[in-house]
Amino acid sequence: MARPTPQMDTEPQFWIRVLLLDDVTDCKLKTRSPFGVSTGDNPIATPEHFGQVNAAMNVSLSGGGITIGGREFASNEVIISPVEPYIFNLNGNDYRGKLKLITNPDDKSFDAVNLVPLEPYLAGVVGAEMPNYWEPAALKAQTIAARNYCLYIKKRFGGNRRWDVRRTQANQVYLGVKAESAQVWDAVNKTYGQVLICKGASGTEDIFPTYYSSICGGYTENSQNVFGDSFEALTSVACSYCKDVAKPHFFFWPMAQFDKTNVSDRLLQRYPKLKQLGKITNIRAARQSNYQGDYEKYSRLTMVELFGSNGKSDFLRAEDFRLSVDPTGRKIKSAICQIADWGDKWAFLSGRGFGHGVGMCQTGAQGMARQGITANEILEFYYRGSRIIRIY
Ligand SMILES: [Zn+2]
Repeated sequence: MARPTPQMDTEPQFWIRVLLLDDVTDCKLKTRSPFGVSTGDNPIATPEHFGQVNAAMNVSLSGGGITIGGREFASNEVIISPVEPYIFNLNGNDYRGKLKLITNPDDKSFDAVNLVPLEPYLAGVVGAEMPNYWEPAALKAQTIAARNYCLYIKKRFGGNRRWDVRRTQANQVYLGVKAESAQVWDAVNKTYGQVLICKGASGTEDIFPTYYSSICGGYTENSQNVFGDSFEALTSVACSYCKDVAKPHFFFWPMAQFDKTNVSDRLLQRYPKLKQLGKITNIRAARQSNYQGDYEKYSRLTMVELFGSNGKSDFLRAEDFRLSVDPTGRKIKSAICQIADWGDKWAFLSGRGFGHGVGMCQTGAQGMARQGITANEILEFYYRGSRIIRIY
């Protein structure tokens, strides 16, 4: 593997805070090198080294502080900074950078946050989001999209939170060191510091949320219809590339069915505003984007109307509806489907595609790359009107 640059001298605005553990009472920590510990808000306080290399240490809470390997720190924030190779192991997984432990306000649990420079963060994302044996141009396009996406999320939401991104599909999947490979590091290094900008509502060019999803199914979707934000570069494009790359049973997904009672319960639990409807008794496609395939017409649901036992109805974005009914997103794989009433079940039929469909189609990017299309051309295709700049 190409030796990754530690990049621990990265400027503070290009460090990402990844939430690794949320609301836990203990965890296991190990390092392969000595490490420094600092407390409070100053991550560059003179570190003191302690702890045994390669020995698992318990991390837990103790009367208003944090205990690591039997040693107590009377602070609600502790930062562990391993020296070279700058890797720590949390609950069996290796991550680069530093580990920040923060107690929650009730002092009963804590969060574990990985402070990691952008480029090693991306190495842990790209290999998790795309097979590393895919074409180099697809991996490079994926890297630039992922870099842009996390910088946007950090800028938009990071100021109000103790972390910037989650390590799951809620943002983008981050697996740390185990997702890395020579191919992934190559894509990261060859696109070093590159981001995409496009014109926003105010008319000025800036980074934007470069959403991407697995298989668009033939057309990508306007972001407005799925996430409610409008960027020039996030409008629908016809994609003929994913169909040739995706396995047929992935491109066209099999019928999924869910118990009506479960569907009603899950929706009401996730969206308390729906409780005024009573039990959900009917579901109707309220809005959709219509597409023309090679021989057939099909639609992506963008808004559903839910009718309740109280005689009232309310609306939900189709993507929110889908992920409430099937939080894994692996049965109802996309909103390109039809909803049918099957007695005590709701059936989801004629499904195609995988994911929300906004922005770059990852499988389509691989299809384009196979045809010799470059990473920049792939990004210009899926994010129309955007351009690449280098920010460091
Ligand atoms: Zn596609």
